[in-house]
Amino acid sequence: MHYKRRPVDSVSVSRRTDENLRHVRDIAARLGRYEADAEKDVRLGDKKHLCRYCYYYATSRIGGSAVTSSECSLCDNTLHSGNTCIDVLCLECAKRNNLCQHCGADTKDRVRRREPITSNFNAASDKQDDNQAR
Ligand SMILES: [Zn+2]
Ligand SMILES: [Zn+2]
Repeated sequence: MHYKRRPVDSVSVSRRTDENLRHVRDIAARLGRYEADAEKDVRLGDKKHLCRYCYYYATSRIGGSAVTSSECSLCDNTLHSGNTCIDVLCLECAKRNNLCQHCGADTKDRVRRREPITSNFNAASDKQDDNQAR
């Protein structure tokens, strides 16, 4: 693949430099919030249950624009989203297992946790999902 020559002039230099600086400042601010975890009560509150990464860092849920639905990975609840960046767990399953409802990571950042993951499928779908429910 060949790219056409892109113009570099005083305007492009200013714009590019400004964009880079703003981008790095934004990342630094997100990292600061991630480290401080000052909104822990909201992050793990009644309305959401998210890991620090999803709550403070990966905050732009960029997904295709489409009304989407999916099943919770640990029960029969149906999840809905206004875009394709849909959660993997319902709030209830996320809370019960100390997992992020959006990405499924451990909300206490434990890479090697011993806590078991409990599913809550009804009896009928338990048979179907035996192979994937772990
Ligand atoms: Zn669920
Ligand atoms: Zn997450």
